Amino acid sequence: MTPRSRAAAFPSVTASGVTLSREVGGVIFDLDDTLIDHRGSARQALRRWLPELGVTPTDELVAAWFGAEERHFATYSSGDITYGEQRRRRLRQFLPAAGLVPGDDDELDDLFAGYLVRYRASWITYDDVGPAVTTLHRSGISLAVLTNGVADQQHAKVASTGRADLLGPVFTAEELGVAKPDPEAYLMVCRHLGLPPSSVVHVGDRYDLDVEGARAAGLQAIHLDRRGTGPLDEPARITSLDQLSSRGPADS
Ligand SMILES: [Mg+2]
Repeated sequence: MTPRSRAAAFPSVTASGVTLSREVGGVIFDLDDTLIDHRGSARQALRRWLPELGVTPTDELVAAWFGAEERHFATYSSGDITYGEQRRRRLRQFLPAAGLVPGDDDELDDLFAGYLVRYRASWITYDDVGPAVTTLHRSGISLAVLTNGVADQQHAKVASTGRADLLGPVFTAEELGVAKPDPEAYLMVCRHLGLPPSSVVHVGDRYDLDVEGARAAGLQAIHLDRRGTGPLDEPARITSLDQLSSRGPADS
């Protein structure tokens, strides 16, 4: 049985979205680009920060920023470098594309701090988060957040959604000591919720980390494909949290 055919059996999928069965006791949300519009926030931050460096924030430069982020954050998540070093590596890759010369580590840290101020001021919560989280909470489903980011920043992001009370506990890779797609990351959250992995659904934007990784650990998974990047043949695929509904827990 392939992962995708296993996903089709549970939860149920219709043309209008995905309905969680009564056997689902918990939902774990990814954070960046799932609850918080990380890419939109970063784009807005770059539009404010780059002109301060005398640089025009073109589409090419924004793409270069995300390219450097994806590459070096993945190295951090694999445990090969520190969080601070991934920030420096991102700048060392990005600055030459912007016509700037990278300085030493201290200068890079100061520069990144300037970006972070703009980034934190730009955090955007998706409009569909509040209604979806409220509906699931009222259904009696336990909620949690699992993110590969660092603790301080990710807890602050969840607080910025205004729904931290409903979203439940927040687990970061930094605090867990393991990152998605390590199966232990998902399983530690399931253990905290007191639920078997098969009764927990992970929801997120990254197909590799939030869908394939979760299923490999024994959880159910739903792909929140907000950007329409696919895979389009994934049965448990939604493009908005508005398409996620619940029949309520088994004992309701
Ligand atoms: Mg994400």
